[in-house]
This record gives sequence, C-alpha cells and structure tokens, in this order.
Amino acid sequence: MTDTQIIDGKTISAALRATLKTQIDFMPVKPGLAVILVGDDPASHVYVRNKIKACAEAGIRSFESRLPVQALQAEVAAEIKAFNANPDVHGILLQLPAPAHLDSAALIQMIAPHKDVDGLSFINQGKLLSGDESGLVPCTPQGALRLIQSVETALSGKHAVIIGRSLLFGKPMAQLLLAQDCTVTTAHSRTRDLPALCRNADILVAAVGRPEMVKGDWLKPGAIVVDVGINRLESGKLTGDVDFEAALGKVRAITPVPGGVGPMTIACLLTNTLKAAQAGHST
Ligand code: NAP
Repeated sequence: MTDTQIIDGKTISAALRATLKTQIDFMPVKPGLAVILVGDDPASHVYVRNKIKACAEAGIRSFESRLPVQALQAEVAAEIKAFNANPDVHGILLQLPAPAHLDSAALIQMIAPHKDVDGLSFINQGKLLSGDESGLVPCTPQGALRLIQSVETALSGKHAVIIGRSLLFGKPMAQLLLAQDCTVTTAHSRTRDLPALCRNADILVAAVGRPEMVKGDWLKPGAIVVDVGINRLESGKLTGDVDFEAALGKVRAITPVPGGVGPMTIACLLTNTLKAAQAGHST
C-alpha cells in the first residue's frame, strides 16, 4: 500500500493567484481581460462570473460583451475587432461553446494572437509546437502540468500517457510533457488495449469525459494521475474519468474531482492575461 498524495488544486491555484496579485499590485497599468459571451447557456454564465470574480481579486480589469443567442457571426467578429484595437484589453476570451450557428473556430482565429489567452490561435499553437515560450499556452493543460510538477519536477524520461486528443487539452498537454522530455503517448477512442497502455504510464492524464472509465487495475503502482474529466452523475455528484477510490493506496499522487485541475484553469487564465500585458504590445 502506498500513501497516495491528493494533489490539492485549490491550494496550489490559490498560491499562484496570490503571486499574480502581488505582481499586478506593482503594475502602474493593470492587465485587462475581455470576455465575450454569446447566448444564455447557464453553465457558461457561471464560468464567466467566476472568471470575472477571479480577475477582480487579482487586480485585473474585466471587460464584458454579452450578446444574444441569435447574434450573427459578423456581430461577434465586430466585438473581437473592437477588443483587438482596445489598448486597455490585453486578453480576449470567447466563452465556448458558442451557439451552433456561429463558426467559433473562425472567430477564435480573429482574436489577435498576442491577446489570445486561451492559446487556441494558430500562432500560439505553432509556438507551443516549436518550443517558442513567448506564446500563450492553453490554460487547462498548463494547469495540469503545474499540478504534476507540484509532485515531481524530474519528469525527464518518464512515460506519460494522455487519454484524449482534443485541441483544447490533449494535444497541447502532449506538447508540454514532450517539452519536459517525457516519452509521450496520446491515446484516443481508437486506441487498442488502453488498459495495457495505461499500466505502463508513469504519468497518466485522463481527459475523456466518461465517468470513472479508468479502473484501478489500469494504474501503474506509484504513478502520478491527473484527472481532467468533469462528469455529472444522475445523483448530481461530480466525478472524474478515473476511479478515484480504487487509485488510493496504489498511485503516488492523484488529482480529485472537483478540486484538482478545475481551479488551476482559472489561475492559468489570469497567468496568461498577465503575460499578455507584460509583453508590451501597443494595442
Ligand atoms: P473532447 O474534445 O470531447 O475529447 C475527448 C477525447 O476523449 C477525444 O480525443 C476522444 O477520442 C477521447 N475518447 C472518447 N472516448 C474514449 C474512449 N472510450 N477511450 C479512449 N479515448 C476516448 O473533450 P475535451 O474538451 O478534451 O475534455 C475532456 C474532459 O475534460 C471533459 O470531461 C471536459 O469536461 C473536461 N475538461 C475539464 C476542464 C477543466 O477546467 N477541469 C477543461 C477542459 C475540459 P477521439 O478523438 O478519437 O474522439
């Protein structure tokens, strides 16, 4: 039996936010984050409210654009252009998912890359791929890496398995771990014998969206496990992609759901906004 460490994302993110606040306190011009929210998805409204609250606590100015669900592509594009041109705005975020009639992929590419705090523009994706650290890295994988490094900084040579290959998480996570000299395997819905692959993982990152898909006997003893999945059960309980109870006593460390990766995402959004402000672009 191993004494499994529960990686406390709340505490680690609070420490990061406190450090950011101290840096921002000394800045004569405060960073500004603009959030564009289209429609009335209740979850998106909660996320946006949380982001604005976190900005205020860190000393970041918030700019908000709320558009009705029937907003046209050109209207959303006009908001993005206005924020691109506003020198008080250093970061721009289009809250996803946007209503289905909008081409959100095209809208994201309209955000000036130096203000793209979600790190989804082609420029920022390319910078991550080429190891150019001036880019803005997507928030959730950035937060997941920080959680892994809170347990272990010597990642070189470790086998990392990431389940999930989304643009938002799986692909950038793979790049971040590759940059740490891990040997990275990215798994997905067509991967053969996923349990055997996971049993070889020194670091296992699950980002699928299937409650407790990763069973206890898939885990390598002593592994570091990051559970990115957020799944709401019929009972209303939130759970991750990993069988948390089965992992206890077996792995070296694991993130809980909730309270693991989730709080890090907002802290990394604030980190990206500060980085964008410090880059010193004129607009
Ligand atoms: P996504 O775009 O739906 O991607 C899911 C990935 O899982 C896909 O690559 C898919 O493979 C793979 N997959 C599906 N079924 C599988 C199976 N049976 N075996 C192996 N792989 C399988 O989701 P996402 O945006 O990356 O998010 C993943 C999860 O993380 C969700 O639960 C989401 O809510 C959560 N999340 C949390 C945060 C946070 O702040 N904590 C942020 C972002 C996402 P294919 O590519 O082959 O379809």
